[in-house]
Amino acid sequence: MSKPVVIVTGVSRGIGAATAQLAAARGYAVCVNYVHNQAAAQAVVDTIRAAGGEALAVAGDVALEADVLKLFQTVDAELGRLTALVNNAGILEPRMRVEEMDVARLQRILTTNIIGSFLCAREAVRRMSTKFGGHGGAIVNLSSMAAKLGGPGEYVDYAASKGAIDAMTVGLAKEVADQGIRVNAVRPGVIYTDIHASGGEPGRVDRIKDSVPMRRGGSAEEVAEAIIWLWSDAASYSTGSCIDVAGGR
Ligand code: NAP
Repeated sequence: MSKPVVIVTGVSRGIGAATAQLAAARGYAVCVNYVHNQAAAQAVVDTIRAAGGEALAVAGDVALEADVLKLFQTVDAELGRLTALVNNAGILEPRMRVEEMDVARLQRILTTNIIGSFLCAREAVRRMSTKFGGHGGAIVNLSSMAAKLGGPGEYVDYAASKGAIDAMTVGLAKEVADQGIRVNAVRPGVIYTDIHASGGEPGRVDRIKDSVPMRRGGSAEEVAEAIIWLWSDAASYSTGSCIDVAGGR
């Protein structure tokens, strides 16, 4: 029997890489999407294959519609019928107050984090929905605790993009609930990944970890566990929900 197929976006490192590896270990064929770092994405694929799993690296910028169409078409042809999507790809820019943000930065953040997730969700719905002859499926979106906390003085733009993801999760979940598709989200807190270096502060998790009620940062694997639970059959009556993986923050 063929394996259930999942697309995870942004898998060259961090939460995406951990999710892809855990998914493969749980029996999924995994599309490993990346935008720049082909070598790192291929290393994730090699690790999965060495452990006996099935994976395929596919390049594509989720912010570009043509790339998203190609990504999904490649999965159709190479891996088969899509079962799950994880909208994980996301970006953070260097710390800045709103009064300093230029339009180019705002467009980068909002296009990648919001429009990228919408485009991938749209393609997933077109394939999974029973309305279009599909067999159902599950979508998990990566939000952030920033959506609730607002990111003042650091990245209100990023926080706002994740607020949009929360709203999209609820709205899309209701749109497709009777079409066999569940849509949920995970809200990580401060997790040890390279995204903080992209934000200009590689040591950010250690700087703020004492303000987390559990007094530590989280791991990418801890977030991956919640993602995979949400798309699995174990979560069969959950849709439009969001799990905080944030140490009580
Ligand atoms: P990360 O370490 O910075 O990794 C981001 C990944 O996304 C990379 O694989 C990158 O690929 C890929 N990517 C970036 N832009 C892309 C695009 N336009 N199209 C396709 N892929 C793209 O990030 P992370 O910390 O694992 O975060 C993953 C998700 O969790 C994000 O949505 C983030 O907002 C969210 N999150 C993270 C934290 C945290 O503390 N880490 C907290 C809350 C929420 P390349 O390497 O090829 O560029």
